[in-house]
Amino acid sequence: MTPRQRLGATPRPPVAVPAYEKVMIYCDSPTLEEWLAPPQPPLPQPTWTKLIVDGVMLSNSIEYGSWRRNPVCPIVCEACWSADCAMTGLARLVTLRDWILWLPGQAEDLDESWRDQLDRSHFLAQAVIMPQATWDGLHARFPNLPPADHYPPASRRGVAQLWLSEMPEAVRVRGLAELDDHLRRTALASDPLDLDPAREVIRSMIGWLNEAPGQSATGRIVRVQDAGGPANSFYFDGPPFPEWPAFIVGRDNSFVFDRGWVLLIGEADGPPDQQPLPAGTESRTVTPSAKAVRRAARPAPRRGPGR
Ligand SMILES: [Zn+2]
Repeated sequence: MTPRQRLGATPRPPVAVPAYEKVMIYCDSPTLEEWLAPPQPPLPQPTWTKLIVDGVMLSNSIEYGSWRRNPVCPIVCEACWSADCAMTGLARLVTLRDWILWLPGQAEDLDESWRDQLDRSHFLAQAVIMPQATWDGLHARFPNLPPADHYPPASRRGVAQLWLSEMPEAVRVRGLAELDDHLRRTALASDPLDLDPAREVIRSMIGWLNEAPGQSATGRIVRVQDAGGPANSFYFDGPPFPEWPAFIVGRDNSFVFDRGWVLLIGEADGPPDQQPLPAGTESRTVTPSAKAVRRAARPAPRRGPGR
């Protein structure tokens, strides 16, 4: 009997992702969509390129986005062509082995003068994991994108942020400090480990993350099925009966991220984490779909605090 059956829950559709869940985006083949920048007379209109992944526009102008700072500002104000003005979709980019991780920004990432004026709505909503080969392809095509090593290595704090951000939104905690108590109060079942030993594993992972939060994390990101053991999930009451796959049974400090990816800490050697992706960044100019038209009709980026 699966934990879900024990809970008497209705299985959710296997493919559909409920709207309330923000899941990580795996990005090895972004869509690059060229468009003419909104007019700003008397200036000639430059051609801009949108960076779109899984229907999410990460940047509306790779050319005019601000990529050298961190967090990056990939969305440009369509009125004045400035990334500083839009202050939308902010993301902190970090590297981990041969990956670039786009972390939803946090207030701590910002200059003090901005912290009071920005909230979550200004930040990237979903984390992105991107093979470095994909970034390299973008960098080769858009010289204003810095090379991958411009961005710092992921710290344990960044790993924690990514890990927790992939908890189902209905049961997500704001920080590591809340996690153990939260599971004790709200998790109804765990599989395949029982709740107590599973929570013990979580406490050990929290201890490792807190031991040196600023230290670089070394490890490999692999598919869950290649991790050498099953993912252990926690189950919560509902609806919507969320499930959180959190770690790999039998692997110390294995942080399961959404969409079947896991970071195995301490595995620094071995072959590259992913296969080469030669076609990954080839330009595709797409005809705007109904979805793209809806995206384009979104409200203009909000005016930021002005700099
Ligand atoms: Zn503006």
